[in-house]
Amino acid sequence: MARHRAKGPLVDFVGRVDLDRKKAVAAVVAAGALAGAGFTQAMATVAPVDRIIPVAATKDLAAAMTAQPQPQPIQTVHAMDTTAETRKLLQAEQIQAQFHIREALKSAEGAFVKRQEAAKAEQARIAAEEEAKRPKCVRPAQGTFTSGFGARWGTSHNGVDIANAIGTPIVSVMDGTVIEAGPASGFGLWVRVQHEDGTITVYGHMNTIDVPQGAKVKAGQKIATIGNRGQSTGPHLHFEVWVGGSQKINPVGWLAARGVTL
Ligand SMILES: [Zn+2]
Repeated sequence: MARHRAKGPLVDFVGRVDLDRKKAVAAVVAAGALAGAGFTQAMATVAPVDRIIPVAATKDLAAAMTAQPQPQPIQTVHAMDTTAETRKLLQAEQIQAQFHIREALKSAEGAFVKRQEAAKAEQARIAAEEEAKRPKCVRPAQGTFTSGFGARWGTSHNGVDIANAIGTPIVSVMDGTVIEAGPASGFGLWVRVQHEDGTITVYGHMNTIDVPQGAKVKAGQKIATIGNRGQSTGPHLHFEVWVGGSQKINPVGWLAARGVTL
């Protein structure tokens, strides 16, 4: 029995506490509503409840209660398949890695192409430099100038003679095209080279011919060797210059005009 009696008042006490709490909440709500509407003066008359809440606190509460509720973000919850998630992550990482590899390859390729272009440009520059340095006109053979252009022994000598040993190289005096290479009356063998301006240079009495007809030749390129063929009194090169392809002129002046002395 003692336990029963002891329990009764406890229940009552709890019940009163609940009642007081309800009153207090009602007061707060009322005060908050008034405060929100601006009736601050009226607040003094409100709150007939024992546990009154200070005005400052009610203001804060009122503000909190009248504040617009913030919309909650929609949240979805789904069951996670860890294998699938791992696979997705791996795929994403693979895509990222592939992207980086592609970028790196592109960059490396770009650098390689740039280096190749630079090397090509350098080669072209060197070639242009060598081309610029290359003589435009050279003497047709090394040797002794033995006979000039003009009247000789009652006839006309249409060129100049340069004597040297059989087999001495004969070169084209300028860039040009071999228009004839073979036997010729009086010359034994001859080579005729036509140059860009139409001038033809003629080389005679040679021992060997080293270029075929139609060949493109450069100034200084070996085309034949000195010989003693045809109407020749000793191993020498007979050299002629035909301006415009037919007018035979003194090679000495023509070569001198191009910086070459015999
Ligand atoms: Zn001659």
